[in-house]
Amino acid sequence: MALKKRVENKLNAQINAEAWSAYLYLSMSNYLAAEGLNGFATWMRVQYEEETFHLMHMIDYVNERGGRVLLQPIAEVPTVWDNLLHVFEDTLKHEEQVSELINECMDVAIEERDHATQSFLKFYVDEQVEEEATVSDLLNNIKMTGSNGNGVFFLDKECATRTFTAPIV
Ligand code: MG
Repeated sequence: MALKKRVENKLNAQINAEAWSAYLYLSMSNYLAAEGLNGFATWMRVQYEEETFHLMHMIDYVNERGGRVLLQPIAEVPTVWDNLLHVFEDTLKHEEQVSELINECMDVAIEERDHATQSFLKFYVDEQVEEEATVSDLLNNIKMTGSNGNGVFFLDKECATRTFTAPIV
């Protein structure tokens, strides 16, 4: 069954949002690297890789369903933050917005009775719960350090160990 136009348009918008997310995290990674926080920069780069995976996964799905992927320009992303805490506050805010966008995609899939797309999107509904929890934990840890040099140093070391593993979809 071909993708309905409304679902196709919504997924195309989400593809653009995932590309923007990837670009945002890459920008954050570069900011953190410039601040000498190389472990946090690595963590953010993995975040970029995850978003790139989402982007490709969605593109594959639209193509598989016989839809047409139309790439739109990626809007400008911030390049500077006040400090480490600000970066992660922005990250949590962003992930909460993404959750809202995924919910909107799901709403359209439900309204159009597109069960295949609902099944596809379930991964993202679950993924967002995890994303918000992970970022929230890290943000709390950063707050706990209260810009204490030692705390930031050890958190940075811990973040440096993060690697990208493609999820099973
Ligand atoms: Mg994503």
